[in-house]
Amino acid sequence: MSESPDPRPAAKAPVGSLRTLWPFVRQHLGLFIGWLVALAASSTATLSLPIAFRTMIDQGFAAGGGDAVDRAFMLLFLVAVVLALATAARFFFVSLLGERVVADLRERLYSHLLALDIGFHDRNRSGELVSRLTADAELLRSVVGSGMSVALRSGVTFIGSIVMLFVTSPQLAAYAVIGIPLAVLPIVLGGRRLQKMSRTSQDRIAEANALANETLGAVRTVQAHAREPYERQRFGQAVLTAVRASAQRIRAQAVVTAVAIVLIFGAITLVLWSGAHDVVAGRMSAGTLGQFVLYALIGGGSVGALAEVWNELQRAAGGMSRISELLEETPGVRAPAEPGRLPVPLRGEIAFDEVTFHYPMRPDLPALDGFNLRVRPGETVALVGPSGAGKSTVLSLLLRFHDPQSGAVRLDGLDIRTLDPAALREAIALVPQHPTIFAASAADNIRYGRLEADDVAVAEAARAAHASEFIDALPERMATELGERGARLSGGQQQRIAIARALLKDSPVLLLDEATSALDAHSERAVQLALEMLMRGRTTLVIAHRLATVLKADRIVVMDAGRIVAEGTHEQLIAEGGLYADLARLQFLD
Ligand code: ADP
Repeated sequence: MSESPDPRPAAKAPVGSLRTLWPFVRQHLGLFIGWLVALAASSTATLSLPIAFRTMIDQGFAAGGGDAVDRAFMLLFLVAVVLALATAARFFFVSLLGERVVADLRERLYSHLLALDIGFHDRNRSGELVSRLTADAELLRSVVGSGMSVALRSGVTFIGSIVMLFVTSPQLAAYAVIGIPLAVLPIVLGGRRLQKMSRTSQDRIAEANALANETLGAVRTVQAHAREPYERQRFGQAVLTAVRASAQRIRAQAVVTAVAIVLIFGAITLVLWSGAHDVVAGRMSAGTLGQFVLYALIGGGSVGALAEVWNELQRAAGGMSRISELLEETPGVRAPAEPGRLPVPLRGEIAFDEVTFHYPMRPDLPALDGFNLRVRPGETVALVGPSGAGKSTVLSLLLRFHDPQSGAVRLDGLDIRTLDPAALREAIALVPQHPTIFAASAADNIRYGRLEADDVAVAEAARAAHASEFIDALPERMATELGERGARLSGGQQQRIAIARALLKDSPVLLLDEATSALDAHSERAVQLALEMLMRGRTTLVIAHRLATVLKADRIVVMDAGRIVAEGTHEQLIAEGGLYADLARLQFLD
């Protein structure tokens, strides 16, 4: 399966789901109220413009006096100035509100995602989560910062202008209210069909894109089979289908546009025609007709604006409902209300008591099945077994990435479920098979083990991990950014960075997942020495892939299908001849 982002537009949701934004908006009540006040002022000013306009025409022109003209124009200009100031204030408040709200939302979501347990992260692809954090949050930014404002403002001005239409001329308003919807109805129906057609054409385009994505991603296979002409033809076909779908939509849109203009202008002309008769007959002043027309324009404009943002609001509502869904997820692994305290100093005794555990997604298959293991303080136990035996699961449960369905995992005799997971994990250092190198300097990568460590301690850890030899050869030594180079560090070098990190952390318990891939002899030796340094004086559980490791372990535990099948030293187990002897022949002894 390709990991490309979904090319289709984000799913929509009822605009009502946006109300889950309210708690975030409430945090910035000042901005919110400022916005509402500015909105009220600007709407009032907008709705006063036609009145000022009428005054200008009827009094300014009719009275014939220069003073009256001056005053009427003055009034018009004044309203415009109020409108300008209120609009500026509205824009300011609501844009700032949008930025703040989305920043809060992002932070909240990010910290929530970090807190969710590994089970959750196993179920959800990180790319998907990142798009919640970026794409959906971005949608909301534009909506809170402008879309919602436009919607509310348009709603207010629409209602206001309808009221004012009736105040200006009840009869004309009645005509308009009956006539315009009759004209608009066919347009709305046409628009619906257009939308469906546009979705079809977008789907076709997405299909063509997916095809290109797949073949370009597998270009080696395509070229190795000399299938370029075939793929060219397939893509050409897909593009052609997309163009046909678009052409259909474009034709329909052209027709709808023509019909819309005729219908709308027909309705307006009809109303104006009737109004003009009233003016000619002296039943209405020219200014009043002008005022009426302006209100109609304002009302029509706000309907248009509302229709335009509605789509955006629905998409943002979709984004918000997905974000809310994530925010409602509760971590499956949590600290108890009154977490127990680990003894200081910690002895580092590990115990698994009758632990049975299956992954949430594999309820039929226990990863650990009545698993019992005791590791004495300072002891090194090597876990050995075929792939899928449950070795990594043992480490995950000790870190409390998951809780077992039955039995208990204990550290120094304390059930780890009674502890704060953060405190538990402080006591354990993990050196994974594929260490993570962050886009940061070598020093900061090592310091990830203990953030407050000073440069001397970092250098000391690097030296003890046999990492200084290659770090000193980097262009800026400790300050070299590993982000661009992380990939260029060899496997052995990445492991030594991880070992230095663990040394710096200096926890009494060490979990080690040995790399399976062979290193060159020099690196192998350096990593071995670094590990010996790291394991000294710590309780160590190691998933062993190397002969040197099993030979040095105090005890080897052989696992199969979530159970312990044998225990002992290398010699004892070889002599016994079971699963271990087979594994040893395959893994270590060649
Ligand atoms: P090992 O480390 O010995 O290779 P694991 O502890 O990784 O074995 O796996 C034990 C069993 O649990 C295997 O059957 C594996 O398929 C399953 N398993 C491991 N991780 C997961 C996971 N995240 N989700 C579902 N099943 C898993």
